Amino acid sequence: MKTYKIAAIPGDGIGTEVVAAGVEVLDAIAARDGNIAFKFDHFDWGGEYYKKHGRMMPESGRDQIRKHDSILFGSAGHPEIPDHITLWGLRLAICQPFDQYANVRPTRILPGITSPLRHVTDKELDWVIVRENSEGEYAGVGGRVHQGSPLEAATDVAMFTRAGVERVMRFAFRLARARPRRLLTVVTKSNAQRHAMVMWDEIAAEIAREFPDVTWDKMLVDAMTMRMVMRPASIDTVVATNLHADILSDLAAALAGSLGIAPTGNINPERTFPSMFEPIHGSAFDIMGKGIANPIGTFWSAVMMLEHLGEKPAADRLMAAIERVTADPRCHTPDLGGRARTADVTAAVIDAIHGANQ
Ligand code: NAD
Ligand code: MN
Repeated sequence: MKTYKIAAIPGDGIGTEVVAAGVEVLDAIAARDGNIAFKFDHFDWGGEYYKKHGRMMPESGRDQIRKHDSILFGSAGHPEIPDHITLWGLRLAICQPFDQYANVRPTRILPGITSPLRHVTDKELDWVIVRENSEGEYAGVGGRVHQGSPLEAATDVAMFTRAGVERVMRFAFRLARARPRRLLTVVTKSNAQRHAMVMWDEIAAEIAREFPDVTWDKMLVDAMTMRMVMRPASIDTVVATNLHADILSDLAAALAGSLGIAPTGNINPERTFPSMFEPIHGSAFDIMGKGIANPIGTFWSAVMMLEHLGEKPAADRLMAAIERVTADPRCHTPDLGGRARTADVTAAVIDAIHGANQ
């Protein structure tokens, strides 16, 4: 019996609802598997913690989770606290020091889900977006001076390092090579941004030489939005900067049916630190506390976590259970046009895990 130590950090809003559901489903997968178990440690960090302690997580927070096998995260975002405080104080405070530099975002149209793109089926939209997750536009470099005066000025400096670009390119090429189509699109903006983005392109071309079996192309980010909508089947694996991929992956999630379905893994490929898995959606203030959040994005993130832990059979079984449930419109939450509640979807996935033929 292998026991994995998982740090569960639900954060705020619907993060608490979907992570609770994710924990239930992972326990069901372990019970079904028989050879694995999870030991969850729950951390109440986030906006409510901030209101009591003046910070999003304790100073020793990272030390408390450094030795865990993985982190299951909900959302950082609280209606009473500015977003840059919640994001930098919790999510980025984990991602950056733990060097989770590859943010991996698979997008597929699951059975039973209709894409807002007319005539597009599951086979035509099967992407993985790799987002550079440690530097670029979200490096945190910049400053603000003369606040309140007419001379007020502010900068956010996009910082790209050769080491940072090389490692994310190599990760993306490797991932593209592991997928059947061996096709990678490098997203850029080197027409307008003539320093860092030109280096980004040059490094992509250098790394490409290490992967002669991967076909790759280059696309300006604005044109990429059009290609995602007009020619989705021409895309397989994508690599983009922190900002570009942040935006493109929300578009991807919407094209696949709902933000509530989309998963992500913040991966530290060298495994020096735990990796963190979370739905890509946020706290969803408009529906929090109502029990109608779609938990599928969290369940799919749990699939990615199982894959990362090397538990492929359990990962496949959970993904199959998710697809059985999405195929049934009675299990659709309101974001998918249905009437099911978070608890209904969770119970259905657990049933499917224990069901026959799996
Ligand atoms: P959001 O993802 O919270 O919500 C966008 C819309 O999608 C809302 O209408 C919401 O109801 C819907 N939605 C999202 N997830 C859903 C789900 N699982 N089921 C059903 N509907 C769902 O984005 P936002 O409104 O821009 O942000 C709200 C807060 O969350 C902000 O504080 C923001 O900073 C934070 N946020 C955090 C993260 C994160 O921690 N990874 C990501 C995005 C936003
Ligand atoms: Mn985002």
